[in-house]
Amino acid sequence: MADQINLQGIGAAVGAAVGRAVMIAERVDVVVPDVDQPAEVFKAAATAVAGDLGSLATEAEARGQEEAASVLQAQALMAEDTMLASTVEAKIGEGKNFNASIREAGSELQTMLASLPDPYLAARAADVGEVVERISCHLAGVPLRRLDSGGEPVIYLASTLTAAETAQMDPAAVLGFVTETGGPTSHVVIIARSMGVPAVVATGEGSMSGTNLAEGDMVVLDGGSGEVVLRPSKDVLADFNGRVEDHRAAVAAAEAYRGQAIMFGDASVSVAANVANQADLDQAIEAQADGIGLLRTEFLFLDRPAAPSEEEQYEFYAAAAKAFDKPVVIRTMDIGGDKPADYMTIPDEENPFLGVRGARLYHHHPKAFEDQVRAILRAAVHGDVWMMIPMITTVAEIIDLRAWIERIAAATDAEIRMPKIGAMVEVPAIALSADALIEHVDFVSIGSNDLTQYTMAADRTNEELGHLQDACAPSVMALCDMVAAAAKRGGVSASVCGLSAADPTAAAAYAAMGIDKLSVSARMVNPTKAAVASLDPALGRAAVDEAVKSASAEAVRSRLDRWRSDSASTKEP
Ligand code: PEP
Ligand code: MG
Repeated sequence: MADQINLQGIGAAVGAAVGRAVMIAERVDVVVPDVDQPAEVFKAAATAVAGDLGSLATEAEARGQEEAASVLQAQALMAEDTMLASTVEAKIGEGKNFNASIREAGSELQTMLASLPDPYLAARAADVGEVVERISCHLAGVPLRRLDSGGEPVIYLASTLTAAETAQMDPAAVLGFVTETGGPTSHVVIIARSMGVPAVVATGEGSMSGTNLAEGDMVVLDGGSGEVVLRPSKDVLADFNGRVEDHRAAVAAAEAYRGQAIMFGDASVSVAANVANQADLDQAIEAQADGIGLLRTEFLFLDRPAAPSEEEQYEFYAAAAKAFDKPVVIRTMDIGGDKPADYMTIPDEENPFLGVRGARLYHHHPKAFEDQVRAILRAAVHGDVWMMIPMITTVAEIIDLRAWIERIAAATDAEIRMPKIGAMVEVPAIALSADALIEHVDFVSIGSNDLTQYTMAADRTNEELGHLQDACAPSVMALCDMVAAAAKRGGVSASVCGLSAADPTAAAAYAAMGIDKLSVSARMVNPTKAAVASLDPALGRAAVDEAVKSASAEAVRSRLDRWRSDSASTKEP
């Protein structure tokens, strides 16, 4: 029996898995033969591939896999994108052969997207690569790779997986998967999460394919910690079987909180959903979230030639407002930084994250802001809508924007309702002025992703700086505590809507600080409710006081986790 191999990747979709390995064969390099009238042949192949992807999207939708369906749908559109076809045609015009024209066009588009600092767009670069490869396979008559488990549920191991391959996985036949490459924000990961399939990415090139692992060997993985063990020993197997059981129990326990209101001592804590598109909205409704704590409206603005109309925005915001009898927090567009929109021109910036982003953009594009505000004011008639402004840095900014919103309201004849108006706390400057800010807002919401990035001066998209991107850093925790205390003094609601709100350790601290709402991805709503409900409030304040004085994020976590485990023994059932 060959030795056990321990690998460390990035935990990409939570849950553990124990099972037999199926290695997915490396993709072969496809060579497309020359043809007469290559431009036309390319367009026909692209149309056929778009049709295939569209059918796969329909199948995914029928299986209830909305997220997968929307990725496949986007790829179908990409296949027929005129920029792709015209770049191929231009290369042919330069005298390149058919194969080189397709390759070069694909890689130019990929490089263009990948050079943008936005992880969403970087993920889209991978999509372009996948679509071009699919078209090439079609033209060369090479069959696509198939993921075949032979009926038995398995763990797939691959150098890379495509979004389309992941979307076609049958959740009943896949226990988990591991890829040697890929990042935690890729579509492959987003789909795995939406299917509830545990996954680990980035174990390192050759880390699995370079071993003598045989088909059918045992493999274990933990999609939270990123651990993967090939051919585990008996002890490791027992450990991971325990993790599988724990996860199953946690998922079942979380289910008990669906639709339930939860308390932290005498205070109620809402657990709302973060929504960035229609699929998220559907999942939030399904999870019976306590409303929407962050509606990221950017998806309506990005990847299109012009801003969406007021009407288009109103339709979506009104649908979201109608879907809940709890607050629906609509964030005004957070464009710029890592989310540029081509049509909203801003001068070239050395540091887009420190540039004209979020609220700083609105005076550059007043019509876009006014259209959006009007759409939100009109949607507010249909529910409990709150309007939230991102990237607020100074109190003067929120005073100015509030006055502008009031002028927009006064100037419209449409039926409107004035929503609560709040600020995101993402910039340390405004966190430090929280008392003054709170005089001018109806609520605040801590964007812990950006608050961590700006406090630690560590670009959130820079993988090299992962160790500085922990929202449990004592400095970031101290700022959150200040904001929560100021909100309490001022009698306004304070929430957290960054990724850390779904981290049970950070969420425990937020509850103890007096944060009254956590907003998390729909899938994490009920697990987060379960995590907060299990805390003993009596021990919380002391834990936070000690934690924020710690010297490191690790020490903060360990102090908070001690409270969490003490809670398990002291909390009344
Ligand atoms: C945040 O910064 O924590 C946040 C919720 O906003 P986004 O991730 O969209 O920047
Ligand atoms: Mg942010």
